[in-house]
Order: sequence, then C-alpha cells, then structure tokens
Amino acid sequence: MTETMLERRARLLGPQMTTFYREPVHVVRGEGAYLWDKDGRRYLDCYNNVPHVGHCHPRVVEAIATQAATLNTHTRYVHDAILDYGEALTAKFGHRLESLVMVCSGSEANDVALRMAEAVTGKTGIIGTDNTYHGNTAAVSQLNSKKIPVGGYRDHVRQVPAPDNMAPIGGSQEGQAEAFARGVEAAIAELEESGHGVAAMILCPYFANEGFPTLERGFLDRAIEAVRKAGGIIIADEVQPGFGRIGSHWWGHDRLGFAPDIVTLGKPMANGHPVAAVVTRPEILGAFQEAFKYFNTFGGNPVSAAAAMAVLQVIEDEALVENARDVGAYTLSLLQEVQARHDVIADVRGAGLFLGAELWRDGAPATALCAEVVEDMRGRGVLLHSVGRRDNTLKVRPPCVFGRAEAETLAEVMDAALEAVT
Ligand code: PMP
Repeated sequence: MTETMLERRARLLGPQMTTFYREPVHVVRGEGAYLWDKDGRRYLDCYNNVPHVGHCHPRVVEAIATQAATLNTHTRYVHDAILDYGEALTAKFGHRLESLVMVCSGSEANDVALRMAEAVTGKTGIIGTDNTYHGNTAAVSQLNSKKIPVGGYRDHVRQVPAPDNMAPIGGSQEGQAEAFARGVEAAIAELEESGHGVAAMILCPYFANEGFPTLERGFLDRAIEAVRKAGGIIIADEVQPGFGRIGSHWWGHDRLGFAPDIVTLGKPMANGHPVAAVVTRPEILGAFQEAFKYFNTFGGNPVSAAAAMAVLQVIEDEALVENARDVGAYTLSLLQEVQARHDVIADVRGAGLFLGAELWRDGAPATALCAEVVEDMRGRGVLLHSVGRRDNTLKVRPPCVFGRAEAETLAEVMDAALEAVT
C-alpha cells in the first residue's frame, strides 16, 4: 500500500506535528491575500501574518534573489545591508530604541531580550501573563502557559492573570487595568521575597495570544510603574502586532501609550524569510554585549537584510499601514453586521487587520462550534483559525494587502458558515 502524504509527514516530522483542518490544505502557490492548493483551488487567506505585504510579493522575491546571487555571508564581515536596514528600521521607533540585534526567529529574539534584561538589571525574575506564548527556546518556553515545562515552571517565572473581554479580571472592563497591576505587584513581591528580584516584564502590547482584549490607552501604566520601581525593565513582544498591522500605529506599544526598554520583532518582518530582531537602547545593548559574547551566524545576513528592507519599502510605498486602518475598520463593521444576524457571536473586537469574533452559546464558550465554523469556512475557501483562553474566538489576521472585496468575501462566508453549523 502506498503511503499517504499525511502518513509520510507523520513518519518524518512526528505524529504530533500539528496541521490545520481535518483535511489539511496542501498548498502549492501564493499571491497577495490568496493561496492555491494542488488541485488549483483558490483560498482567501484571512489568517497568515507572516506574508505581511502579500504572499510572494515580487519586490521581496526580487530583493532576495538579487542579493542571493551576489553575496551571502555572516555579519563578522562588514556589509552595508544590515546597516541600511538597521537605520531604516530604528527610524520607525521612538523612546531611544536606536540599536538592534538581528536574529532568525521570534523565539530567539525573546531569548536575547531576556538575557539583556538579566545583564542590565543583574536580576533573574520574569513576569508574563497566564495565557501566552513567546516562543520555543528553553528559556522562553518557561513563559508558555499552555504547555507546562518538564519539572514545572522554574521559580524565577511568574504568570499574572491576563485581561479578557468576556471574563474580565477584577470582574469588570473598567477594573481590568487595576486588577492587572495588582497581579503584577503580587508577582513582584513574590520574586523579591524569593531572592530573584525583577529583571523584566514581557508582554505582547496587543495581548495577541491572550485573545486581544479591548484595552484603553494607558492600560499598562500602573503595572509598568511597579516593575520599574522594582528595578525591572519592560519588553514589548511586537512579533504579532508590529509593522503596522493594527492600523493606527506601527507598533502596539505606541497604540497603548508606553515606552518599552526592549522590543522584539519577528514573523512579518521579511514576509516569510526567517528574520527577527531585538531593538533596544544603546546602553542596554552595551550591557548585553559585555555580559555575553553574543553572535548569531545567520542573523542579519545580507539576504535577510535585503528581504527585510524590501518589506519596509513595500509597507511605505503601498501605504499598508493606512490600508490596515481603512480596510480593517471596514472589515470590523462587516463583522458587526454578521454579529447582528447571529446571537452566537458574543463579541467582535480588534484593531486594523487584527480582528476577532468570539462565540458563546447558552452562557458558555462555544469552543467546539468555533472549530466547526473554522472547518466550514475552509470548505468554502476561506482560511482563518481560532484564538484565546477558551479557543472560541475566530481570528482574522490576513496579509496587510487585504482589500474591501476580500473583507466582503470573509463576511459572506462567515455568515454562511454560522448559518450552516448553528
Ligand atoms: N512571540 C509571540 C507573541 C508569538 O506569537 C510567537 C509565535 N507565534 C513568537 C514570539 C515566536 O516566534 P517564532 O515562531 O518566530 O519563534
């Protein structure tokens, strides 16, 4: 008997290697906001944030091909590409975030950020939320709330309750900022008591993996003040909201109105080429380099820098931040219309092209139903997925070239799927 593709995949990559969908999509080509499968069927991609400027954008492809045909080496030789890119990228930041370390994944970026925090504070305690993911290195895995590390969480990590729209911490939307700060203050007290002290609080400023609850500007102010008072620093993990996806700003921390000490970047940075970075103030980079002799063989190589530069240029030239704002607002309004027709949608939320529709039925989170909607929409040619503590929120996070026509298709298909499965 011949082995199926899924059997071959399980044999080689392991049976636990996840796939999306009961019948996974076997993709062979991408363009803009669309993917095609092996049978030539087209899917609207409402989920993938990595192809930020659109699948296979010709300018990114060209930049990679041209540089790959010219030179690719590590950064112990000197080359303009990483410097040109570093200047262009840091120009997008305020708060004296003027220096960078280039790496190859968001996980690595967060790993470096944690080590920077240790180097600059001389302490080891880390605060994250209780419903998050920041990556897969040994150190960063300690922050993952869904899979408990072997031997349990180490004593230097504290997870504080994350904000949530449908089950707000502290019992009300208005009370969430204070409740969050109280959680952070309690974590600080414990870390000080145990002798670790506070090195850093690491947060996604959009709380993306937490299900992106609606937060007012200044939400983190009190919590940040407490961390700083304890001598800790603030790491903003912009792997998901960064590069203008949220429409109103380039970065989630500017939308929320705080000044991070370190920002980590990844996924959308080079449209799928593995590029990530840590952006920080010069003195923090200096302390890090003094404490650890850090070198990253592939990080910031000329091809990676060229790919990342092309992405920045396309974001500007095609006005994709403005597109995220305008089309995002239109998409949100269409999702609100879908909500008006389906009681099962309890909450529609988000900013720019990062939106969600949370499903509840009979006073309980409709997690299984949410999975059915995801499957049904796949059958109708629209790809998205679910997110959140209860995994009952439909997550809409498409390439930022998503247009009004795509928004209309998404809403029509979501409407039809909800009609079919409820
Ligand atoms: N930070 C956040 C907030 C993430 O969502 C992820 C990946 N989903 C990472 C870091 C890790 O990035 P990578 O998979 O590139 O290591």
